[in-house]
Amino acid sequence: MNHQISPSKYTKITFLHFRAIRSERSPEEQYSVGYMQDNGFRFDRYNTWSTIEEHLHKLRDENPDLVTLIEIGRTHENRSILVVKVSGHRSLAPERVSIWIDAGIHAREWIAPATALIMLDKLVNDYKRDPEIQTFLDNIDWYILPVMNPDGYEYSHSKNRMWRKNRRPAQCKKNYFHTICCSGVDLNRNFDWFFGSTGASADPCHETYHGPAAFSEPESRAVKEFLEKNPVKAFITLHSYSQLWLIPYGHRKRSYPQDYSTALRPLALRATKALNKLYGTKYAVGTGADLMCK
Ligand SMILES: [Zn+2]
Repeated sequence: MNHQISPSKYTKITFLHFRAIRSERSPEEQYSVGYMQDNGFRFDRYNTWSTIEEHLHKLRDENPDLVTLIEIGRTHENRSILVVKVSGHRSLAPERVSIWIDAGIHAREWIAPATALIMLDKLVNDYKRDPEIQTFLDNIDWYILPVMNPDGYEYSHSKNRMWRKNRRPAQCKKNYFHTICCSGVDLNRNFDWFFGSTGASADPCHETYHGPAAFSEPESRAVKEFLEKNPVKAFITLHSYSQLWLIPYGHRKRSYPQDYSTALRPLALRATKALNKLYGTKYAVGTGADLMCK
């Protein structure tokens, strides 16, 4: 999951990211699209964390038979890290399996939480009427973490639209003339897989600062501890932007897990083909290192 890119590539991506953000629709335009509402919650706009949190509680209260909320930890600013568990009424398989989907590890990538929320809504609300969704829910426990970095997400709404990291309190460093203090850790560089290697920075002021140690941050630690107790068959993490379906490994070019060509890549090709059929979108498939570090 730690897709890593070179600093020059990173600057280019950040610039393009900024350009994409500039073309976001204005709030007025967002409000003018009147479709896709669920009980007052709007799926056609970027909601604040408090609105999302309220929506998740409501979803649980209205569907107690399908939805469980699990607080897997709390952030530096004491926000809740909320996993939504969705499972059906009947258990058809002898042993249930689990799928994990998280979004919003990077604060400014707002479309990722919005996508996780609409997936969640579809699973819950179509269960009663769609046989395919029934099969999904009766055989699989879905763990969905729509906003993994709520502090950063909120900060990107209220203070700095381009904020990427979490909100770890500022660390200060002195040089000859002055002291510089910078906050935040890139949670996507805070896991222990090749911690601190290429594509991560040791400088607290950098966008890809990896933190003082692997799993130093409440958000990444909460995910790790939860997954250790609840092993999953599939792990999907949503980012933006790019039309990429990234599969492991991400730390080095031409480095692949054993089941890369027998399972991971064929599955990714099936998934992207299905997306293309439905939406006409085209995704490149490969490892983060192979696709992003040219
Ligand atoms: Zn990202």
